[in-house]
Amino acid sequence: MNNSLSEDNEISSYTLELQSETEEYIKNYLKIDQKFFRKNHIGFLKKVVAHLPLSSGFISLDASKPWILYWTVHALDLLSYPLSKELQNRIISTLKNIQNPITGGFGGGPGQISHLATSYAAVNCLAIIGTTEAFEIIDREKMYKWILSLKLSNGSFMMAQDMEVDVRGSYCAVNIAKLLGILTDPLCEKVAAFICECQTYEGGIGAVPNVEAHGGYTFCALAAMEILKATETLKLNDLLFWAVSRQMTLEGGFQGRTNKLVDGCYSFWQGGLFPILSNYFENNDLYSKDFLQRYIFNCCQNSKGGLLDKPSKPPDFYHSCYVLSGLSTSQHEYNKDLEGNYAVSTIEEVENDWVDDNSSETSPKDNTDTFSTTVVNDYDSSLVIITLYSEM
Ligand SMILES: [Zn+2]
Repeated sequence: MNNSLSEDNEISSYTLELQSETEEYIKNYLKIDQKFFRKNHIGFLKKVVAHLPLSSGFISLDASKPWILYWTVHALDLLSYPLSKELQNRIISTLKNIQNPITGGFGGGPGQISHLATSYAAVNCLAIIGTTEAFEIIDREKMYKWILSLKLSNGSFMMAQDMEVDVRGSYCAVNIAKLLGILTDPLCEKVAAFICECQTYEGGIGAVPNVEAHGGYTFCALAAMEILKATETLKLNDLLFWAVSRQMTLEGGFQGRTNKLVDGCYSFWQGGLFPILSNYFENNDLYSKDFLQRYIFNCCQNSKGGLLDKPSKPPDFYHSCYVLSGLSTSQHEYNKDLEGNYAVSTIEEVENDWVDDNSSETSPKDNTDTFSTTVVNDYDSSLVIITLYSEM
């Protein structure tokens, strides 16, 4: 990075130039109140799941099949689009073929090595479908033994046998275990202590100890701590300061790290921190939800369908999932009662503005919904902590 002083003693750098350029063109998008292209987003997402097994166009994503299914199924769920029974069955059978019969974990595709990230995607996808047929394909006992086999003595988890170690592993492991009712003491031991070591001097959380804080890793870490009921062992004041500082003052969206550009997917990775933090600070207005929603509506939509990073980028399934997830968390509150039970509620003002547009794709009056008529439902599998099975 070249930092230099100009003649009038202002610091200039490649990073600052990129930031100025981004602000300049985003300013133009922020001027108008954009519609919400719900029907077109549904059409964009449906193309993926309508042709299972995935078409040859996905060849470069051959090791990410459970992710593609999770991103699309979760995004369609957030848009209140009901999957037909036939489509549900095809998704379930696609995932069944990806489950490793020896480990019980899920790989990226049939015959591929079991991996915690793709297992997280597969289990959460099946949880959204939520039928007995979906749950029955999971071999809980093998999955439990496999997850434990990935655990290291310092409380961290390898993402796969002899593979990298970071807080994604911690989150994927405890998320899967919580959903499957296999969150035992041996599985939880020292997990929170490892995550605490990953909190940096900035307040955010890095992939491993002593690396830069990052939005994706910070969400994984905080969500894992919440599942472990150990959130308050983090330095929450520092974490909150770091998180609110990542909301861009002009754009309204979030950056993933200090000195990085705004990106739509951090609407969830950063925005998703606040519903959890709000319970500890007893404040549901820790960041500007309106400002984030303006960025999402004006800068993260392709009018023909699909959501995106920023206006210069094409839509994709990953960003469609996480931009909509960020929108959902900005329109709902996540509350914990005295017994530690959780509930998600719709923020009152948003609910009052809804129109009757959540029945099916054929019901909207036209292709667009206005700012105030965004329809998202109250299920966010990354945040709602539920148990699908009784404890082992
Ligand atoms: Zn992104």
